[in-house]
Amino acid sequence: MTPRGFWHTTKPYTPGPALVGDLHVDVAIVGGGYTGMATAHFLREADPGMSIAILESEWIGFGASGRNAGFNMTKIGMMHSLTARRFGRARAREAHLYADRAVTLLHDLVGTLDLDCDYEHPGFLWVATAPKYSDRLLKEIALVHRLGITGIHLLDHGELLDRVDSPCYVGPAWWEPNMGLVNPAKLAWAWRDLVVREGVQVFEGTPVSSVEPGIAAGKVVLNTRHGRVTAGKAVLATNAWSHHFPQLVRRQVPVWTYIVLTEPLTDAQLGSIGWKGREGVEDFRNLVHYYRLTPDNRLLMGGRDVALGDGVGMDFDDDERTWAALRQDVRSMFPGLRDVRFSHAWGGPVSATLDMFPAIGYAGSKDVVYSFGCVGHGVSTTHLNGQVVADLLLERDTELTDTFFVDRRLAPFPPGGIGHATAQRIADYLRWEDRRFDTSPA
Ligand SMILES: Cc1cc2nc3c(=O)[nH]c(=O)nc-3n(C[C@H](O)[C@H](O)[C@H](O)COP(=O)(O)OP(=O)(O)OC[C@H]3O[C@@H](n4cnc5c(N)ncnc54)[C@H](O)[C@@H]3O)c2cc1C
Repeated sequence: MTPRGFWHTTKPYTPGPALVGDLHVDVAIVGGGYTGMATAHFLREADPGMSIAILESEWIGFGASGRNAGFNMTKIGMMHSLTARRFGRARAREAHLYADRAVTLLHDLVGTLDLDCDYEHPGFLWVATAPKYSDRLLKEIALVHRLGITGIHLLDHGELLDRVDSPCYVGPAWWEPNMGLVNPAKLAWAWRDLVVREGVQVFEGTPVSSVEPGIAAGKVVLNTRHGRVTAGKAVLATNAWSHHFPQLVRRQVPVWTYIVLTEPLTDAQLGSIGWKGREGVEDFRNLVHYYRLTPDNRLLMGGRDVALGDGVGMDFDDDERTWAALRQDVRSMFPGLRDVRFSHAWGGPVSATLDMFPAIGYAGSKDVVYSFGCVGHGVSTTHLNGQVVADLLLERDTELTDTFFVDRRLAPFPPGGIGHATAQRIADYLRWEDRRFDTSPA
């Protein structure tokens, strides 16, 4: 097990056994991230007698769930105004309420299930770093309030600087108290321990090469290197890897995001920033910067740019150019950190659908359910998505399964290289607009 970033070094972890031989279970879940493990938990909660296996190709927390920045936040899909334009105002509100419920759900689960993940609940600051972003922020907050969404407040510039002091901030900020921070790898491993205690079988080092529904009624066959699993139903909780399954090809693309981490800040360095409230912070760019403090007071900053790989492989976890730019951004956002040393840098893939919204539904047959597409906002939503996936497997019609992005017609990316080129064009547009906003006056 080679760590993919800082979080994987914060606690010893020994992967469990691989599957060897054949197995029959009621539900087989492919992918050992939050989606897969939350699904297993909610299924066992609904039916403690159900037999469930999780099949993970590497080890639990190998994917985005073990590498993210740890923001348990209400962001989902696009900005509220873009969601309102694409899906209508009612759905913009519905999406926000879903994500808000997801944040509270994870907060509560950590408490009630005693998931050891260094949880803090410091709230979220969304800041502007140029006048045009400030205009966008003010319009967005006004819309959110018109939609009847509560829990989001405008913080004036002085109050913002009292919280986090950067010369790059422009105008007021978005302040949202319902936001938490986790150590993501610890959270993933706490989930593993919990679901194992609940009776779920977890196999690591077990890549699933195919999922074949319908060979016999109610029997899905999952092929792995050293064994075959038959299951009543199956779940594809494979996030950015989902296009490897023919059922899901072109339904999402993997997009890589990158993070740098400083050594623990000295008292003087911390004093130069303020940040006593330890809020999670993002800026209002399209390709955001996201940053936070770790429990040992390192500054983690991610974002700025993304990579789309080559449209074929999955080996794009390193990007020296983006890491160098992020290190420079830390120094210019916080001049008191000009001499800070950096200890870690890593990256990982998120899953993006064409409309940037999560997608949960059936993969060809009602026996196979998928869930992916949370982009960089899945820490909260994957947990609630796990409940939705469990409801679909249990054939329950619930308020959650009525959510507009559940079981919807999912527009595919165009075939072959054109799909990759489409995703590149979207990223190029976002970069172009950021460059324009970064340098334009109001
Ligand atoms: C660098 C980074 C920063 C992020 N920051 C944040 C943040 O601060 N807040 C936020 O809300 N979201 C963030 N995200 C996004 C968030 O981490 C994800 O949305 C979420 O973790 C997805 O969980 P998941 O379980 O769906 O997928 P994953 O955690 O990616 O799990 C999928 C698993 O499937 C396994 N798999 C794939 N193919 C197969 C196969 N054929 N057989 C068996 N197993 C397979 C993979 O190995 C992987 O472990 C970030 C993501 C990254 C990469």
